[in-house]
Amino acid sequence: MTSSHTGQRVAVVGGGILGAASALELARRGADVTLVTSGSLADGASGRSLSWLNSFGADRSAEYHRLRLAGIERYRAFAERVPSQHYLRFDGGLTWAPAGAAEGHRRHLRHMQEIGYPARWVSRDEIPAVAPGVDPAAVPAEGAIFNPSEGWVDLEHLVAELARQFIAAGGTLRTGAGRAEVRLAGDRAVGVVTAAGERIDADAVLLATGADVPATAAKFGAHIPDATPLALLVRTRPLETPLRATLNTPSVSLRPAPDSALVMDSDAAAQEVIAHADGTYEVKDATVQNLLDAASAVLAGHPELTLDYFGVGRKPIPGDGEPVLGELDEVPGLFVAFTHSGATVGLISGELLAEEITSGAPSPLLERFRPGRFAGEPALTGSR
Ligand SMILES: Cc1cc2nc3c(=O)[nH]c(=O)nc-3n(C[C@H](O)[C@H](O)[C@H](O)COP(=O)(O)OP(=O)(O)OC[C@H]3O[C@@H](n4cnc5c(N)ncnc54)[C@H](O)[C@@H]3O)c2cc1C
Repeated sequence: MTSSHTGQRVAVVGGGILGAASALELARRGADVTLVTSGSLADGASGRSLSWLNSFGADRSAEYHRLRLAGIERYRAFAERVPSQHYLRFDGGLTWAPAGAAEGHRRHLRHMQEIGYPARWVSRDEIPAVAPGVDPAAVPAEGAIFNPSEGWVDLEHLVAELARQFIAAGGTLRTGAGRAEVRLAGDRAVGVVTAAGERIDADAVLLATGADVPATAAKFGAHIPDATPLALLVRTRPLETPLRATLNTPSVSLRPAPDSALVMDSDAAAQEVIAHADGTYEVKDATVQNLLDAASAVLAGHPELTLDYFGVGRKPIPGDGEPVLGELDEVPGLFVAFTHSGATVGLISGELLAEEITSGAPSPLLERFRPGRFAGEPALTGSR
């Protein structure tokens, strides 16, 4: 672990939520921090995320659930400090299964209730009260699960605010730096070099490069299994709708967004994205239109939804589904942040990583999520 001293030099690579949150927390703890990112802030997954803040469901470790709860709590604390009403909301989440297939959802509900995560079953009649703007007829007769403590965040706005605070705390921000490479002396990370050749010396480097983390770690002999898929996020033009909750339905997930827009995604739409060999993506008009139609079908009054823009690219997901946060055993001084649900756990992960890097003391909350857990595993998982 890196030793603790104020003025410790840290280079953070990647200007998404993980990089921005970590850089700010490092600067707050007195480190001399440079945040380097290849293009503009939030131009990766963070700029095209549904960003439902949640720990919904039964299928994750107790430690991951606790990290997510701490993540949501950090957003509440952030909302107390920063006027962020237009991009950070806690108006609940409403989730339903296809008609006749509610048994799986009842299992999730039982689990959430057993562990004290706010969740209740709501009938169609209750929908207008808990989730105004939803067409109750779109909900199967069995009903849906409502999670009152959940919310959503717009990560572009959040990252911009974190970067503003980072600069105010004395941090140095380098956008448009091109791809930065980690520099080693012996087996130890000693800084980064940007595409333009700028050398940033550092006592510790944090790689928060989203979906690129496993490939970079592999160059240093560290195996991080990768289950990163392609993802598509569609944003509408502004419309009048009373929708406040985040909706997870069999055909589409959607939520309100700043400026009276809606954003939405679905696994089925993501699977229709075509990745070309030159690194570009193709999204068919029908894919976007079907997503807009699916969203309209679950909203009261079935408003006409018009495309504003869509974002397409990789959505970072570790092979075992759980976050990968901490120092690489293979490269002292090189830390990684690679996670699914990076919106939910973004603020808390940045805080815990910053605490580890500046104090040198491992955080018990990160114990389960160390990159070293994959040591000795065959590197079988491919990435897309
Ligand atoms: C469609 C979609 C829906 C999602 N829904 C949810 C959800 O409902 N709830 C939730 O909690 N999470 C959700 N997520 C996940 C969440 O958005 C991501 O986990 C999170 O945004 C990842 O942030 P990051 O900082 O790790 O990576 P990114 O946001 O991808 O940022 C990485 C940055 O690093 C830069 N970079 C990469 N390599 C280099 C390099 N070598 N040098 C310099 N810069 C580099 C990139 O340009 C980019 O700016 C969703 C994601 C998507 C795409």
